[in-house]
Amino acid sequence: MTGSIIDRVATDPNRVIVFDTTMRDGEQAPGFSMSPDDKVRMGRALKALGVDVMEAGFAAASPGDEDCIRAVVGEMAEDDSGPVFCSLSRAIEGDIDASYRALRGTKRRRCHVFIGTSPIHRAAKLRMTPDQVLAQAVRSVAYARTHFHDVEFSAEDAIRTEPQFLAEVLEAAAGAGASTLNVPDTVGYATPDEIASLYRFLIAQIRPNFPNVIFSTHCHNDLGLAVANSLSAIEAGVRQVESTVNGIGERAGNAALEEVVMALRVRAERYGVTTGIDTTKLLETSRMLSEVTHSPIVRNKAIVGINAFAHEAGIHQHGMYADARTYEIMRPEDVGFSGSFFVLGKHSGRTAVQKRAEVLGYPLIGDHLNDAFAAFKTRADEIGEIDDAELIAICTATQRDAHVAA
Ligand code: MN
Repeated sequence: MTGSIIDRVATDPNRVIVFDTTMRDGEQAPGFSMSPDDKVRMGRALKALGVDVMEAGFAAASPGDEDCIRAVVGEMAEDDSGPVFCSLSRAIEGDIDASYRALRGTKRRRCHVFIGTSPIHRAAKLRMTPDQVLAQAVRSVAYARTHFHDVEFSAEDAIRTEPQFLAEVLEAAAGAGASTLNVPDTVGYATPDEIASLYRFLIAQIRPNFPNVIFSTHCHNDLGLAVANSLSAIEAGVRQVESTVNGIGERAGNAALEEVVMALRVRAERYGVTTGIDTTKLLETSRMLSEVTHSPIVRNKAIVGINAFAHEAGIHQHGMYADARTYEIMRPEDVGFSGSFFVLGKHSGRTAVQKRAEVLGYPLIGDHLNDAFAAFKTRADEIGEIDDAELIAICTATQRDAHVAA
């Protein structure tokens, strides 16, 4: 992977690699299917966003998936500044071959090999002993290395795996040539303290023999802890975070890319790490995904929801007029919004109504302000949000009343 982004960033101990799996883990969840054209569009957007690794699919899943990965890589293949492209593979030769066929057009390719390591996955799914799982992990990573310089190994359901066995499998995978070791919380079971302790244990066990290996985290949101667990993993020394735009993914989803990236940025004094993400493109990427998957973004979604920088309550609006830092920890422009905005409703105060009316060409003073504000509150109780057209109607009606009274 000479010249790849991974080579460049791996030398900086404070740089976190952002591995995007929107088009693999995200796309495989119900309701988030994407057409090949959609994936090509998303691929371009993710490149512009600055992801380091783009998991474009699971080539062995179907011939269509294999074609789709090739299409995503497409014209980006020879662009030196582009991301590393990745395909998921079970720990079997056929899957690795499919990944190679999908990615052979680019030098910046990664094979992501996984096998279940937890007792339940070994017994119920694989019907294999721990020794057999370990041997197959080693064999498949070594095979992947014949086609790929860059191989990532994942111990599926790592969080529910015996820590000592997990360390053995990961170390053996590193010995076979995996340069990234991923410890997925496949079922979203971990807590932040627990995941940090596990990574500290694994890093202490494996780093002495493999000083350049990169530890990776892949958290699911079944308990709403995916972002918290990812951040905790980074604090424990992890330098690759796997995430998806809008947090889409199996069941309750994966760690949301925009939330992890902005937490690292807004709380940089605490985490002390950087990413390669152009945060001003977060909103447009999120909206593009929402559009291609026909899945609206919940309005109070962190970072990219339409309420993320909206203020209705009078006390908050008053504070925002004085200094935006009273109620905002980041600038809306930093994530792609054009600014904060004030929603007028029953919780809004007199100043906010007066300021908006002035912008619309209705300077409210004296009795007109009193009458308009009273009418505004009545109307807001009836219909909720007062948009510009409603506010203009209120201003003109109360103006007329004032004239009549005079
Ligand atoms: Mn997953």
